[in-house]
Amino acid sequence: MTRPSRQPNPAHGQEPDGSSLPAAVLWDMDGTLIDSEKLWDVSLRELMAHLGAAELRQEVREALIGSNMRHTCEVLLAEADRPITPASVAETGRWLTERTRQLFATDLPWRPGAREALASVRAGGVRTALVTSTERELTEVALDTIGREFFDVTVCGDEVDGRNKPDPWPYLSAARLLGVDPRRCVAVEDSVTGSASAEAAGCVVLVVPCDAPVPSGPRRILRDSLVGVDIRVFGELLAVGVG
Ligand SMILES: [Mg+2]
Repeated sequence: MTRPSRQPNPAHGQEPDGSSLPAAVLWDMDGTLIDSEKLWDVSLRELMAHLGAAELRQEVREALIGSNMRHTCEVLLAEADRPITPASVAETGRWLTERTRQLFATDLPWRPGAREALASVRAGGVRTALVTSTERELTEVALDTIGREFFDVTVCGDEVDGRNKPDPWPYLSAARLLGVDPRRCVAVEDSVTGSASAEAAGCVVLVVPCDAPVPSGPRRILRDSLVGVDIRVFGELLAVGVG
């Protein structure tokens, strides 16, 4: 978990025309900023072969979108009919992390509009956090592509005391580190698991589904992509989501 690295912009919170801005924008990573779920597809299917199992069933793959490493390993060991022990989960996690790290280091494409949306929020002086279920080691590889300078704080899947998404804790933790009210934040998510986490934390959630559909909800606003989403749009989304 990284701490805030810069002071709040005293001007943040309101545009010159008086319209409100979010207190912060909280970004999911996989499937939201970068199209890494496609790379997870590769490493997860290779892991199943490594475990001597049949193909990864599509419904199981979809259920793992937004999941954390320990849960993912437990599910795949069960699918492969292998014993689930602390040692087997740890060994499976090491294998999956290493293979995914190789893939992240060679090819990590952005989701449409994500880079521009991220840059617009940064340029607008609104505080930002990365809130990911991916562990720190892999997140750091991804940040080489995304850019660390875009985030005031980063919260990773191995830094939340096991209270991973869909628990609200990762988003609550990010808001606390930023010193902002989560109910004045917009979270950006692509998955059922992540959207549930952000919504339970009280955030307005901009949902841009990537690999699986996400149902609507009281504080959720669904869009097809992040193309055209800039700092002003985030202000409008907060107003709509808060109601
Ligand atoms: Mg995601």
